[in-house]
Amino acid sequence: MPTDTILSEVFPLGSRLNDLGRLEVGGCDTIELAREFGTPAYVVAEDDLRSRARAFVAAGRDAGHEDFHVVFASKAFPCTAVLELFAAEGLWCDVASAGELHLALNAGFAPARIVLHGNAKSEAELRSALERRVGLIVVDNFDEIDRLEHLLADGALGVSADGATAHQAVLARVTPDVRGDTHEKISTGQADSKFGFAGAQAGDALARLQRIDGLALQGLHAHIGSQLLELEPFRAAARELIKLGDFPVWDLGGGLGVRYLAEQAQPPTIEQYVGAIIDAARAARGGDQRLLIEPGRALSANAGVTLYTVESVKQNVSRWVAVDGGMSDNMRPMLYGAAYEAHVADRFGGAEACVLAGKHCESGDVIVRDARLDDPKPGDVVVTPATGAYGYAMANNYNGVPRPPVIFCKDGDARVVVRRESLEDLTMRDAV
Ligand code: PLP
Repeated sequence: MPTDTILSEVFPLGSRLNDLGRLEVGGCDTIELAREFGTPAYVVAEDDLRSRARAFVAAGRDAGHEDFHVVFASKAFPCTAVLELFAAEGLWCDVASAGELHLALNAGFAPARIVLHGNAKSEAELRSALERRVGLIVVDNFDEIDRLEHLLADGALGVSADGATAHQAVLARVTPDVRGDTHEKISTGQADSKFGFAGAQAGDALARLQRIDGLALQGLHAHIGSQLLELEPFRAAARELIKLGDFPVWDLGGGLGVRYLAEQAQPPTIEQYVGAIIDAARAARGGDQRLLIEPGRALSANAGVTLYTVESVKQNVSRWVAVDGGMSDNMRPMLYGAAYEAHVADRFGGAEACVLAGKHCESGDVIVRDARLDDPKPGDVVVTPATGAYGYAMANNYNGVPRPPVIFCKDGDARVVVRRESLEDLTMRDAV
């Protein structure tokens, strides 16, 4: 493969092969990064995150929508440095637990720009959101309505500074019975979903929310699924929402898909997606009201790559290339057969069919089933691109493997924003 190549869009913006034929991310040589920081490691191009955030915001502005807000779904990459960057870019933040709420507040998101989600919010989570005065609580079910009513009656909101009765703004999450073409495990908009109110119950839910003192029902939320590569399901969701009444706020969730493989078709661009959502909302409602979207993957997946070191190569029926990470740093292949590509970081363009396997005690711990690598050997650094979403987020300590660091790269400088876990960290919570 020629050097100094601009790589496919699967890689972070600005990635290239340098004149040594080594992958550079954020201007940093990945072989040097592996040497300096060890592997496995999550490597993130800071400028990539920033430019995607700006592209989302600019797309709303270019579509002429004055009250359009981009809410980062923090579950995609709940790392303080990432959250701080998005907070500084003016995004809002979607949190789905007390932990994510804590991370978002700690990273500097104003409470008014935080949207609380969850299909099983505890009383403590709701109380803490009310006390913090988050911008929106997205109500998922009738038990949550009971819980909110009880908390409000108990004075969880207190009174406003001016002495007036305080109100918590809420949206009702509904399942519009729209199915996007994605894996069933990340499809959420169908009628039989664990999330939100089904169409038949939505009327009752809205009526109850409207009656509760201390709640201000502002609108509707729908998130139909993740890794969606077509725009029509988003339009269909908007057409369904308007049937439930016209409200001043709509949150159409996240879900824009990304490219994991160079040969995969180009997903809709950020501009096409935002344009389509705004047009669909306008068409359904006949004008602009407050509109929120909650991208996760589309903001962070392609900004990150994972570096591994090859530990062993074995030939039986297949050629097994085993690396020093796996399902502890990237659960997605195990969870939904997610496809990734892999390359030897200083010898791109390999042709040997290999199975890139993790180090964990499960046969299913395979990172890439059909990798093409150039003569992989122990000690080689292997890179898997597009791991900036739902990798770090779902990392775990299976087999007592410490979780990898997160390294931000920009203009040739690398900085550790999350350190590697140590062996001592593994016993840190022991109570004996
Ligand atoms: N909003 C909600 C309510 C979600 O459940 C999710 C993902 O699970 C997202 C946003 C983010 O989805 P994506 O990363 O596909 O954009």
